[in-house]
Amino acid sequence: MTKINQNFLKLPGSYLFSEVARRISAYCAGHPDAKIIKLSIGDVTRPLAPAVTAAMHKAVDEMGTFEGFHGYGPEQGYEFLREAVAQHDYQSRGMDVKPEEIFISDGAKSDCGNIGDIFGADNIVAVCDPVYPVYVDTNAMAGRAGEYQEALGRWNRLVYMPCVKENGFTPEPPKEAVDLIYLCFPNNPTGAVATREQLKTWVDYANRTGAVILYDSAYEAFITGADIPHSIFEIEGARTCAIEFRSYSKTAGFTGNRCAYTVVPLELERDGAKLNSLWNRRQCTKFNGVPYVVQRGAAAIYTPEGKEQTRQSIEYYRENAKIIREGLSAAGLSCFGGTDAPYIWLETPGKMGSWEFFDLLLDKANVATTPGAGFGPSGEGYIRLTAFGDAQATKTAVERIQKIL
Ligand code: PLP
Repeated sequence: MTKINQNFLKLPGSYLFSEVARRISAYCAGHPDAKIIKLSIGDVTRPLAPAVTAAMHKAVDEMGTFEGFHGYGPEQGYEFLREAVAQHDYQSRGMDVKPEEIFISDGAKSDCGNIGDIFGADNIVAVCDPVYPVYVDTNAMAGRAGEYQEALGRWNRLVYMPCVKENGFTPEPPKEAVDLIYLCFPNNPTGAVATREQLKTWVDYANRTGAVILYDSAYEAFITGADIPHSIFEIEGARTCAIEFRSYSKTAGFTGNRCAYTVVPLELERDGAKLNSLWNRRQCTKFNGVPYVVQRGAAAIYTPEGKEQTRQSIEYYRENAKIIREGLSAAGLSCFGGTDAPYIWLETPGKMGSWEFFDLLLDKANVATTPGAGFGPSGEGYIRLTAFGDAQATKTAVERIQKIL
């Protein structure tokens, strides 16, 4: 009789976004004229840059010719894109990252989850709380998270690092020994960033203990602060303890196009094995590579026009973030994030519960948000607002919230 992976049965339902959608539909059913503005969406809304679509059109035409046809591509990505990434995202910023350390993929979500394939099931995993749920669920599927404790909303074998107001939503290394550490800066959902000193503490910790840092910088393009690191590899010592995930999803509107990359330094070794070789082996076996046309589109982001057009889109979202942050702060609410990230982490007034405040904003302001409690126990008492919407709708949403407070 076939046995299933029992770990899947331990997963709680993906409650957060389905419950948000359910409450919005229920409200709309009772209020058919309500014009709900969604500050809950985590997807981008601006179209692809013209430089990207032009490069993709050209690549499609190439594919229709004998000379320009591309069949199975290299699983690690085409050299033209790996070289562009190494040069523009790293070497031009003073980091010694080589093309062979870059693995092009179809998403940071896939890579953050799949990276677990190269690590043993008995590693102890540390995650931030609140957290991007993919880190938790993929480790639960692999049997590294133990048992889910319904009443506490947490897994008994994961180490949760509370990210709260008191530590500026940036945790310090835990007291207990951990082997794999997921860090995400700029953070989803809190919008917090880590300073150079904070990241240095983590890198020193990992090098001292032999842990590996899995650094998700999917939102690095939103960083405005001159001193805030965009990459873990800006930190001395990171090449012997860290893997970095990046994505074109939010940087260049690629959520529907699918392209991202992961950097595994050649120096990074554990248990006598080079993690770059293990990841290469994993990708060559299980991953088919990103379509040629999409990779040509991604490479166009690094052209002068592509850079400028992408910058304008990011600027548009940044302006939304500013409107939300300033508008709600002026209304007396405590807002965090939103300066170096597309997320604003809003403390609920009067210690109201996350879901209670969500319902209040939906009902009284017709604004949809995401309750912080859905991202982990330390998210209780917060809601997440996103800057990915239309500028006018974002302004209207802020005015509506101001009015009801
Ligand atoms: N990492 C974080 C922290 C995210 O919030 C998201 C998407 O919301 C992703 C990764 C997913 O990136 P991708 O679209 O490249 O899979």
